[in-house]
Amino acid sequence: MSDVTMIGLGEMGGAMARAFLRAGYDVTVWNRTATKSEQIMTEGARVARDTLTAIEASPIILTCVSSYSAALALLDERKIADALTGRTLVQLGSGTPQEARDMQGWVLEKDAQYLDAALLGWPRQIGTADMTILVSGDTSTFETHRNLLGALAGNLLHMGESVGLSSTVFSAVLSYLAGRWIGLCHGALICEAEGFGVAAFGEILAQQAQVLGADARHMGEVIEKDAYDNPESTLKTAGNDIIRLIQLSEEAGINAEFPGFAGGLFRRAIEAGHGAQEHAALIKLLRAGNI
Ligand code: NAP
Repeated sequence: MSDVTMIGLGEMGGAMARAFLRAGYDVTVWNRTATKSEQIMTEGARVARDTLTAIEASPIILTCVSSYSAALALLDERKIADALTGRTLVQLGSGTPQEARDMQGWVLEKDAQYLDAALLGWPRQIGTADMTILVSGDTSTFETHRNLLGALAGNLLHMGESVGLSSTVFSAVLSYLAGRWIGLCHGALICEAEGFGVAAFGEILAQQAQVLGADARHMGEVIEKDAYDNPESTLKTAGNDIIRLIQLSEEAGINAEFPGFAGGLFRRAIEAGHGAQEHAALIKLLRAGNI
C-alpha cells in the first residue's frame, strides 16, 4: 500500500503528486497519457498500470482531472467502483455545487468516504504557505486526512459538511476573477494606447493588493448586511467614472466591449434610483427580477 494515490497528472495533479513526494509520502499515480506518469516515476512515485490498481494502492485517492464527468467516467465501472469501498475519494477538479452533491451521492453508494475540494491558487503555489484548498464533506473524514492534505496547502480550510460549499466558493471567486482578468486586459489596452508600460501597470496593481482586498471585504459585509446608505463613494460617482471609459476607448481607438458592458450595468443601476448608495448596490440590479 502507498499513502496516497493521485489520478490525473495535469498541471495541478502533477504539482500535487510532487508536493506529496517532497513531504515524504509514498505516492501512487495514474494518468491517461502515460508520459506524464513516467516523468514523475523518476521523481519517486509508483505508477499504477490502470485506474483499478491505482485505487487499490492507497486508502485515499485524489482525482484532479478536467471535470466531474471526466472523473466519474474513470471510476464508473463495476470493478473499479467496488474497489472504492472503505476508501476515501477526494475530488479536486472544478465544477458546480450540484456536481459535487451528485458525486458524493455516487461515492457514498459504494460505502466509501467522499471529500470535495477546490483549489484557490496556481500550480506554483501547491505545497506552499500561499496555497488555499477548500474542503467540504464529513468532518471526521476530513480530520482523518488533514495532515496528508496539509502537504498541499498552507491554508487548508474545512468549509463544513455541506459538500457543495467548496465549489460554491470556488465559483464565486472565479466570477470575481473573470471581471478582474477582463478589466486587467482592458486596462493594459489603455496603457498601451498612451505608451505606459503594462508591466508597470501590473506592479501598481500588486502594490494595491491590500486596498483591493479591503474593498472586497467591505463589499461582502455591505451586501450581507443590506447596508448601502453610508457610501464613501457613491454608485453614481463610480458608475460615471466607468461610463467615461467608453469615451476613453473611443478616443484611443481600442476595444470598448468591457466598458460598454460594465458602464451599461452602472447606468441602469443609476436610472433605477440606486445612485446615492454604495457601489455594492449594483447587486440590486443583478438580483432576479431586475435583469
Ligand atoms: P490540465 O493540465 O489540462 O490537466 C488535465 C488533466 O485531466 C490531465 O491529467 C488529463 O489527462 C486529465 N483528463 C482530462 N480529461 C480526461 C478524461 N476524459 N479521462 C482521463 N483523464 C482526463 O488541467 P489542470 O490545470 O491540471 O486542471 C485540473 C483541474 O484543476 C481542473 O478542474 C481545473 O479547473 C482545476 N484548477 C486548475 C488550476 C490551475 O491553475 N491549473 C487552478 C484551480 C483549479 P491527459 O494528461 O491524458 O490529458
